[in-house]
Amino acid sequence: MSGLSKIKRKIRRANNLKINVFACKVCKHEVVTVDLCVGSTPGSIICPKCQETSMLSFYPDSVQNRKPKFGWFKPANDVILKEQIEWECEWSGVPVTDEKKELCFKLMKGRVKNGSLCLREL
Ligand SMILES: [Zn+2]
Repeated sequence: MSGLSKIKRKIRRANNLKINVFACKVCKHEVVTVDLCVGSTPGSIICPKCQETSMLSFYPDSVQNRKPKFGWFKPANDVILKEQIEWECEWSGVPVTDEKKELCFKLMKGRVKNGSLCLREL
């Protein structure tokens, strides 16, 4: 079973997960996320609509009933982390060279080891 289907099962079971919203400063597009694992999430992400900065909202009560489209999780191994990088490159819409992906992998491996979570579409 892939890491992602495990995550999907987990979200179906869970009902007390923390919902967060990242709101774009420019186009106001909102990305609704849920924390699926214990760890840290970044304070901002790149807006998938306009590539500007989308800021974290710190779990306001007003968004806890919204349905998340993305989840924060901890990649369990190198294969899942490599898949994650491919997904992030595709999601960002920016072409990325294999060399840059390799650099990204090394950087993210270090971050994940230190408790950073990764974002994936649910
Ligand atoms: Zn935007």
